[in-house]
Amino acid sequence: MRTRTALAAVATAAALVGGAVDAACDPSKWKLPVDGHYDTAAKIDSQKLNVHLIAHSHDDPCVSVCLQVVVDVITCMGILMGYVSCCWVTCVSVTHRGWLVGVDQYYMERVQYILDTAVEELVRNPDRQFMFVEQSFFQRWWHEQGSEVQATVKQLVKEGRMDLTVNGGWCMHDEATPHYIAMVDQTAYGHKLLMEEFGISPRIGWQIDPFGHSATQGSLLSQGVGFDALYFARIDYQDYDQRKKNKDLEFIWRPSKSRGKSSEVFTGEIIDNYCPPGKFDFGNIGNEIQDDTELHDFDVCDEVDQFVQNAQMRGSASKGNHVFIPMGCDFQYDNSRHWFKNMDKLIHYVNQDARVNVLYSNLSYYTDLKKAEGLTWSVKTDDFMPYASGKHEYWSGFFTSRPTLKRFARVANVLMQQVRQLNSVYQSHHSSELESLQRAVGLVQHHDGLSGTEKQSVADDYALRLNDGIIKAEKEMNEILFVIGEKEPYHFCLMANTSVCDVSTQNDDFEVMVHNALPRTSVQTISIPI
Ligand SMILES: [Zn+2]
Repeated sequence: MRTRTALAAVATAAALVGGAVDAACDPSKWKLPVDGHYDTAAKIDSQKLNVHLIAHSHDDPCVSVCLQVVVDVITCMGILMGYVSCCWVTCVSVTHRGWLVGVDQYYMERVQYILDTAVEELVRNPDRQFMFVEQSFFQRWWHEQGSEVQATVKQLVKEGRMDLTVNGGWCMHDEATPHYIAMVDQTAYGHKLLMEEFGISPRIGWQIDPFGHSATQGSLLSQGVGFDALYFARIDYQDYDQRKKNKDLEFIWRPSKSRGKSSEVFTGEIIDNYCPPGKFDFGNIGNEIQDDTELHDFDVCDEVDQFVQNAQMRGSASKGNHVFIPMGCDFQYDNSRHWFKNMDKLIHYVNQDARVNVLYSNLSYYTDLKKAEGLTWSVKTDDFMPYASGKHEYWSGFFTSRPTLKRFARVANVLMQQVRQLNSVYQSHHSSELESLQRAVGLVQHHDGLSGTEKQSVADDYALRLNDGIIKAEKEMNEILFVIGEKEPYHFCLMANTSVCDVSTQNDDFEVMVHNALPRTSVQTISIPI
């Protein structure tokens, strides 16, 4: 009874407080939507701070899923009847008890709905824009669509409203642990379909979540692949504070000593990470903008005030008349209606307030405007490693964590490169068998993959994919060898370090083939269990 009385008292107090706030926000001061339409047709206003809303969803193909697989991971050395450069392999034998795995589970539960509903919402209002980055997800979704949806998406891409010109890699790779060849490969693999289907080539880098940034990323994987700008969100906290204070969060990065100026790229560190300010995270129920004048909690004044304050904070930390706010976060937009309806309202009301000018935008447009302002930027050389998110919070453990997965991914990449070389040398046309390994090697470069920051079950899933890919690559290799006269099949012996290799331990006679992929003589020792 006592508890019930106390609750009633609190409820009364809350109603009184709510009434007081509502009274301060006069609904009659705002123009409401006409015929159900919010005015979202904002253009650039040279007299104001322009706030570009960048609608996006950060979709990691792996983070923290419950995966029902049992994997035996055995570290091994040596590879028999394979290639000399593939020694020190990690091998897996797998019993797959589940039906969903990391990347697939995310796709089934979230990502397909993100793309489904984003397309619907873009069609609903021609001012809206949305960017999608991770090609491993997008391309799967694309191949599932019928001709009608594909035609709609092509039109949206042509109009620049479905923006696929950002990053476009198979995944958003880690920058500390992958080999540069794997980074180039997975980026090129993602870009391939974009050129074939849409005739576009990505022009903006978007490495928002990797834990620090390498000079290789700035030089080879940004300027080197033709990006006009690179944006990211994780740099050392002291560096961040200093740059924010000095309006240096956007700058020129000249990461390569040897390439000098020709390696430089316009670079931006995102203010307050890659998610929107808390109140404007429209993926959260409770953050809706309430503009029904019949209700007591009409909150347009408060919403507009808070948004303008945040925009002005960004403006004070930036040079020029343009800032952007990332409107999206991890796996957001599976209910795109929720996001876009509230962003429509935001644009409609904030532009009536007129202190700042807010619009739907994209990073290419933002970058062009920023460059056109003729501002002077500071120059950063070297890299952004290691990353510290706070005092005593150095993200350097991942350089060496999950060493077996790191090694296995390296070996898988080497195998893929070598089978590809043989394909090229012998003019074989069986390369479709390599797709599986290409995808697995591309995916594992992810910033929650090769880095080792994923859960064990997800790491197991990566190993499984690599193993499946290697088996198919072996088939491909044998087809090539058959063409050049080798009639008996060869096998990679992935568990040779534990003396497990049926071919050499159970046969008196066997043949070893060693392939030197280097353009020079190489002397190396091969270990074979007998
Ligand atoms: Zn991420």
